[in-house]
Amino acid sequence: MKEHRARKRFGQNFLQDRAIIQDIVRAVRPQFNDKVIEIGPGLGAITEPLVAAVQQLHVIEIDRDIVARLKSSPFVSKLVIHEGDVLEFDFASITGKKKIVGNLPYNISTPLLFRFGVYADDIIDMHFMLQKEVVERMVAATGTNDYGRLSVMLQYFFDMECLIDVPPESFKPAPKVDSAVVRMIPQKGRIGIAEDYAHFAALVKQAFQQRRKTIHNNLKDWADDPVLEDVGINPGDRPERISPEQYVALSNHLLEFDSQSE
Ligand code: SAM
Repeated sequence: MKEHRARKRFGQNFLQDRAIIQDIVRAVRPQFNDKVIEIGPGLGAITEPLVAAVQQLHVIEIDRDIVARLKSSPFVSKLVIHEGDVLEFDFASITGKKKIVGNLPYNISTPLLFRFGVYADDIIDMHFMLQKEVVERMVAATGTNDYGRLSVMLQYFFDMECLIDVPPESFKPAPKVDSAVVRMIPQKGRIGIAEDYAHFAALVKQAFQQRRKTIHNNLKDWADDPVLEDVGINPGDRPERISPEQYVALSNHLLEFDSQSE
């Protein structure tokens, strides 16, 4: 089969490093009967060892040429191939609890990560290769420079851990940035449950509208200072000083307030 030319528009940086591939599969710990979904199998670097471990592997791939290669691969009988854009894929169409894995195309990683929250109840765990800088933002502790909207919205659903640092030379072609593998495990209400998820999401978006301004300023149309203080928020703090728990509590408190004043 002729050599595949990597397509930039699909974020194709193929993993070459055997040791890293082994480390990823070891971290995923696939069991024979697990429902495993791989996003962007590409030329099969992670697909092959995964297929060897499980009964069946779902793969989601947008590149038609790659789909054609997968269809003529020796392990095709164990694959369920979903051709198309993962941003439009309905993960609920694969029933039951699942493990999701992928060396993700970096250009779509943030919108993709935002989509997983709604499926959290049906996810066992997820392991993703991402731009290191994105992983740092995902796992960032409250009060640090990297902490922002992405941290709050993902920490609301998942416990996350950076597992492996991966240098550019591990890929072909080599990306311009460092990469890292992150593990995401649904955390069941540990930081509280937002009564109205859409309200919570909108509140967090507004809170981080201008990072350098205080929470009092960013939320001036949403909450008066005494309301912020009710949930332990100092109105003079910047948005990165406020924990995911406090954002959840504030959202719930504001809704309670609204319903009382109706
Ligand atoms: N898993 C392979 C590896 O580790 O070598 C390939 C990883 S490469 C970084 C990303 C893969 O995702 C490519 O196969 C690419 O074609 C695919 N891809 C890119 N955008 C996609 C999308 N929107 N939906 C589904 N697959 C996509």
